[in-house]
Amino acid sequence: MIVLWNQAIDSIGVLASARLLVPLLTLIVLWCWEFWRPFFDQRDKKIRHDLRNLFIGFMNASLLAFTLGLITIVIAELVDRNGWGLLAQFTLADTVRWLPALVLLDGWMYLWHRANHRVPFLWRFHRMHHSDLQMDATTAIRFHLGEVGLSAALRCIVIPVLGITVWELVCYEILMQIVVQFHHANISIGRFDRWLRLLIVTPDMHKMHHSRLQTETDSNYSSVFSFWDRLAGTWTMRPETRSIEFGLAEFSDEASQTIGGMLKTPLWPGKRSITTSHKGHSPEMIEHRNMKQ
Ligand SMILES: [Zn+2]
Ligand SMILES: [Zn+2]
Repeated sequence: MIVLWNQAIDSIGVLASARLLVPLLTLIVLWCWEFWRPFFDQRDKKIRHDLRNLFIGFMNASLLAFTLGLITIVIAELVDRNGWGLLAQFTLADTVRWLPALVLLDGWMYLWHRANHRVPFLWRFHRMHHSDLQMDATTAIRFHLGEVGLSAALRCIVIPVLGITVWELVCYEILMQIVVQFHHANISIGRFDRWLRLLIVTPDMHKMHHSRLQTETDSNYSSVFSFWDRLAGTWTMRPETRSIEFGLAEFSDEASQTIGGMLKTPLWPGKRSITTSHKGHSPEMIEHRNMKQ
């Protein structure tokens, strides 16, 4: 047991480094990109906005790494040693099984994200991510501690059921951090977006998910691979994304954007205020649900 614990400590060292270094390097690249060529001009409040989101992200990481994070790693080590879970039922070489492992973990993330929009109790926490009025790369780490903690606790069940090993978990975490920061960034990759989103979630695809229109907020739930939304019929895309307005009507005031305001988000009434149109667009004009690509 002591050996297992020591291995878990070593693994969490790698995981913690990966969870800190990879997003940090990705963030620096995306920050430069956002300053050089932002999609929406939001440079005036960017520093204050980004520092608040970074504080939330670092607070979550430091509180969870050596608590639920460590337990998750110990469970993944046990999965590896004892051959637990779905993936162990197939005789797959280590060089092959990382792919179904990534797909299965990403499928779980799709279901979890969708549940966060459907279950009112979960939405109370998840709406802190959606209340951001200016989405950029730092929005990728703006999650309430309650949501991150619940997600980590459920992974303690999901990992042994699916049969995910430590290194498959580390690979998925690294890939997810890169893709999630990329699709939150205040950037555009122009026409290339429509090709890339055949495989992964892109900035244009995820901008839809941060729209104030509830029909758009409740769509495009995928984290890494975009095909989950196509398969489940939750895919949405506008012909253009310039007219999207970010945030939630009920959390648009400055007080909701402070660190204290963000942390208090779950305490406010759970009812969602439904926005059906904005910026002068009638619902008919924004009739684009399930549009191809
Ligand atoms: Zn969401
Ligand atoms: Zn998001």
